[in-house]
Amino acid sequence: MSAEAQQPVPPALKPPVDPSTLEHKNLLQGPFWQRIPAYAAVTETEFLDHKWQAKNSITNIPKLLATIKGLVSDAFMKDAEQGFARAPMSVRVSPYLLSLVDWSRPYEDPLRLQFIPVLSRSLPDHPKLDLDSLHERVDMPVPGLTHRYVDKALFLPLDTCPVYCRFCTRSYAVGIDTEEVAKFQLKVNVDRWQQAFSYIQSRPELEDIVISGGDAYQLRAEQITQIGEALLGMKNIQRIRYATKGPAVMPQKILTDDPWTDAITRVVELGRRLHKEVALHTHFNNPSEITGITKAATDKLFERGITVRNQTVLVRGVNDTPEIMGLLVKRLSYINVHPYYVYMHDLVKGVEDLRTTLQTGLHIEKYIRGLTAGFNTPTVVVDAPGGGGKRDAHSFEHYDRETGVSVFTAPAVRPGEYFCYFDPIDCLPPAAQARWANPAEHQAIVDEAVDTAKSKGGV
Ligand SMILES: *Cc1c(COP(=O)(O)O)cnc(C)c1O
Ligand code: SF4
Repeated sequence: MSAEAQQPVPPALKPPVDPSTLEHKNLLQGPFWQRIPAYAAVTETEFLDHKWQAKNSITNIPKLLATIKGLVSDAFMKDAEQGFARAPMSVRVSPYLLSLVDWSRPYEDPLRLQFIPVLSRSLPDHPKLDLDSLHERVDMPVPGLTHRYVDKALFLPLDTCPVYCRFCTRSYAVGIDTEEVAKFQLKVNVDRWQQAFSYIQSRPELEDIVISGGDAYQLRAEQITQIGEALLGMKNIQRIRYATKGPAVMPQKILTDDPWTDAITRVVELGRRLHKEVALHTHFNNPSEITGITKAATDKLFERGITVRNQTVLVRGVNDTPEIMGLLVKRLSYINVHPYYVYMHDLVKGVEDLRTTLQTGLHIEKYIRGLTAGFNTPTVVVDAPGGGGKRDAHSFEHYDRETGVSVFTAPAVRPGEYFCYFDPIDCLPPAAQARWANPAEHQAIVDEAVDTAKSKGGV
């Protein structure tokens, strides 16, 4: 042995941690809703009551106006009014969300951006956009059941949600008709549910059912039980998940709607006895959506042994920086919610201002991997327009950052086919924007990208 090797190794001391690194544990506490004049007299008991939240949700402009009067300029109100008139989604915002908005900066606020449209920020839709861009309706063997992947299917038992998100992929179905879109109806309907159950039972390859919507928060406790028992009772079914944005927008329900929370718990327990997995999938997009109330709700689910996973949508201005996404991932982990996916924003009508580039998604994924446990590190995915299903953002066959076209294949879902995702045009270099401005160029832009993918040996 050399003399050098015998020297004691100095301990690898790290410098003291920057306090901002612990920001994820710093959750908003106290009666924060009383900052809103309309809620100044609302007590904690009322605010935690899910019925109060539902009853006081904002569903039209006059009510919004009355609630945020004095907090924003008249110009902002006019802008929102015009935004609503043009939006493909109905509006519904809970008092909880409204009181988390920073009304001194309504244009920049990440919650306002997700739920309240303003005309002045709208951008033209991408020319390759069509409503139901994921072809959910094309893959429906019975109404409200999408069977795209081999062993899993998506069941849409209803078409309402506790809130309506501007960016909703299912704006073709969710919410009441708006001036812009006459909806494809998915009402709660026992016959339709029965048809879906019969189909699921008739397909031995199906093992995994996502119960979405709309949103499972809007199902009554008996309906949660009925769907859970029906599916878990099928020999072929091994896994189910209830998808709900609820915990992110109205955590009060978990705390005060005992029949609902108990119904979920009993289905989870039934699954455990049958050795089948039952999980809750939710949808937080920004760290400010996670408060002390949220933690109380997720703690309750955790005590009951309920697995909760999160699916985030990458939204411009909401979570499109590594810092914000990193904080979201850490904060979700802190409340025992597993960050599962970050979705590239689908091509949805009327919300081009909310989409961002695939490059942004790739950049964010690079930064967040390594921040925390690997099992709490989400995968960035693109739900390939045209029905290719979810693809790892990094798995593109070709990505032309000039024209913003990325090309994916999906060998397990639709072998031999190519699927394109399109970056928002306003984020592209001027020359590419000029090309997209000419409709005669569109086919050539797509063909170039797909041909390059083919030449690289995709599929
Ligand atoms: C997302 C999705 C699923 C579930 O996919 P996972 O990757 O397992 O989360 C199932 N069916 C459809 C149609 C989907 O869009
Ligand atoms: S809660 Fe989900 S299904 Fe409902 S509007 Fe929002 S994104 Fe769409």
